[in-house]
Amino acid sequence: MNFQASGLPEVLPLLKGKAVYSLDFSLDGRGNPARGVCAATETELAIFRDGKETFRCPLAEVEEYTTVQLVGSGAFGIVRGGKPEQLCICTQSELNAFAELGKLLEYHKETGVFPEPDGEDEVKTCPKCGSILPEGSSICFRCAPKGKYLARVIGLAMKYKGALIGAILATAVSQLLWIIYPFMQRIVIDDYITPKNTDYRSLLVLLGCYLLFPVGMMLLEFLNERCTTRVSISVGRDLRRELFEKIQEQSMKSITKRPSGEQIKRISSDTEKIQEFVANYGKEAVVRLLSTLVILIVMLVLNWQLTLLVLIPVPFAILATQVIFKYIRRKYDMVWNKFSQSESTLHDILSGIMVVKTYGSEKREIARYTGYSRRFADSMFKADRFWYLFFPIIGFVITMGEYFYLYFGGQQVLIGNMTLGALIQFAAYIGMIYGPLRWIIQLPRFIAEAAVSAAKIYEIIDEKEDVSDRPNPVELDIKGQVTFDNVGFGYKVYKPVLKNISFEVKPGEMIGIVGPSGVGKSTLINLIMRLYDVSSGAIRIDGVDLRDISQHSLRSQIGVVLQDTYLFEGTVLDNILYAKPDATMEEVVEAAKTANAHGFICKMPNAYQEYIGNKGYKLSGGEKQRIAIARAILRDPRILILDEATASLDTETEKLIQEALGRLTQNRTTFAIAHRLSTLQHADRLVVLDKGRIAEIGTHMELLRNKSVYYNLVMAQRQTSRLSNN
Ligand code: ADP
Repeated sequence: MNFQASGLPEVLPLLKGKAVYSLDFSLDGRGNPARGVCAATETELAIFRDGKETFRCPLAEVEEYTTVQLVGSGAFGIVRGGKPEQLCICTQSELNAFAELGKLLEYHKETGVFPEPDGEDEVKTCPKCGSILPEGSSICFRCAPKGKYLARVIGLAMKYKGALIGAILATAVSQLLWIIYPFMQRIVIDDYITPKNTDYRSLLVLLGCYLLFPVGMMLLEFLNERCTTRVSISVGRDLRRELFEKIQEQSMKSITKRPSGEQIKRISSDTEKIQEFVANYGKEAVVRLLSTLVILIVMLVLNWQLTLLVLIPVPFAILATQVIFKYIRRKYDMVWNKFSQSESTLHDILSGIMVVKTYGSEKREIARYTGYSRRFADSMFKADRFWYLFFPIIGFVITMGEYFYLYFGGQQVLIGNMTLGALIQFAAYIGMIYGPLRWIIQLPRFIAEAAVSAAKIYEIIDEKEDVSDRPNPVELDIKGQVTFDNVGFGYKVYKPVLKNISFEVKPGEMIGIVGPSGVGKSTLINLIMRLYDVSSGAIRIDGVDLRDISQHSLRSQIGVVLQDTYLFEGTVLDNILYAKPDATMEEVVEAAKTANAHGFICKMPNAYQEYIGNKGYKLSGGEKQRIAIARAILRDPRILILDEATASLDTETEKLIQEALGRLTQNRTTFAIAHRLSTLQHADRLVVLDKGRIAEIGTHMELLRNKSVYYNLVMAQRQTSRLSNN
């Protein structure tokens, strides 16, 4: 975890005891830059600024921890003896971590335990370079071991050995032909195109051979392209599949920590970059480096003095590239960050386009997206401007060698030390190494870009699953008995949502889950579906711990009708079939009839084949819900989950839905959360949650008689509905 300040080693001698948590802060009391560390040991809280202690106090004396948002910065403080004290000023980006630190220390005050921070809300920085990590990322793409990731990409390409060898051979042979070509040129010029030569026949034969070169080259190029494309497309496809599979298998916690736009980008553009890299650079780099080496050897053998002369500017160019590359890389990192932000914003806006339209905030969103897009374009412009200014200069420096060569080589021909053919042959080789040299100089940039993409892809692929099947999980044929055994859960360790939840549900029973908003009703249901694992205790189905049941067998026997039904792009039929792709049309119609959906489906122009558009925009809320119910009926689950399924509908639709639900819940264990308590009256039992615990359990009538939490909730709701009716 990152609750380890980078400035901690400096202040360690001043700290009495080991630091449990420590954070850097970078402003002094007046908002000027400073090197600060806030550290908590097992007994004390201490603040250091520029290596000096500015505050120390026993943890036992602290009554409360506070974080305050200031203009462009924030303050961390405590309350001691009833008086607030401000301890340090931090930047905006550091403030989240301080807020988290406050919560961790509060938790310690209550329980005596120092919880392990999960650091999800914390702004994470790279321990090596100190830069802020992108949202949802746990590695710094600048400092990540890129060679290791690229090696994995190469390993993946090796799966297609045949095509890879074909491509390498084709390129190598065509390079070889290129090397031989100038030899032919030299023979033609020096031996045949001479004033005294009369052997026209041999000249013709030689020129015929000349013609074979482009033909051979063309065939080799075709083979090369075919093999390379096969390898690169296959590598891209494999990576996309692996990445997508991994994301599908991830727990909700892992999936939601990254913006979905970011995940889409990794699946599409990062794999595309790798694909491009394999196609254009991977194999090419090997072959070009090798052929440059061979040409250099040939040149050295032919005329080593001229070769060295030609190569004089090369080390300077390489050195300059190395230095400038370091600088340029930072610029390209910036470009990536800005691009990522603009893509995520775009995705966010498009996902919430309904809200944007209903609030008439199109102009604001246009300004927001344009802002991000402009910052991305600016950063790209700056990075590219630099690159394109620098690159021709390097090109020019390298080409300087050519002038040396023409001058000295020309002199040698004039004094008769060298033939014209040899000069032309040499010139051809120079052309052949300059091209690859320029290309090789650019290579680090492409390698770096591909390596960053590989790191981003493998970051997800390598992520440890927090909700995973144990080896040989139980494939359970669920009857429907569900037991909560002293279950505790919190999205964050130090902030429990549910505490000591224990109750047992018989197969086929309908349980209503009731409680004020935010008490943990949806969380309880998420735990049954094992979208998250319990923090303590256990949930058992038919006596088997949920964590021992295979996720597939569990989820295939749970049906869900959520408040906001998600419909996929496609027809009504596709959406109902989603629950059971192999169902027959009769089964689908039967399910739709039971769900009271058949009627409205048949009224649509194309009935079951009606295309319902993106997210089902063509349907009303009640219609969408009935499709969701039909889906659940078709699945025929043993456990059914209804989350606020009847919220905000007109009376007629609600009646239809209640009827459908009544049929759906028969003989299935059902957990239902309803906004309006009246809809849960027919539940067998109600579990009433209050402050994260079970306050009471019983039937509607029993709980009303208790005149406790449930009674108060019902009374409060009646009052509200009476007020709204008046
Ligand atoms: P309810 O369904 O009773 O309204 P929830 O179960 O949705 O309540 O939420 C219970 C608590 O857990 C709330 O304080 C909520 O903010 C928090 N919470 C819900 N989902 C998440 C999440 N994915 N990450 C962090 N906290 C969450």
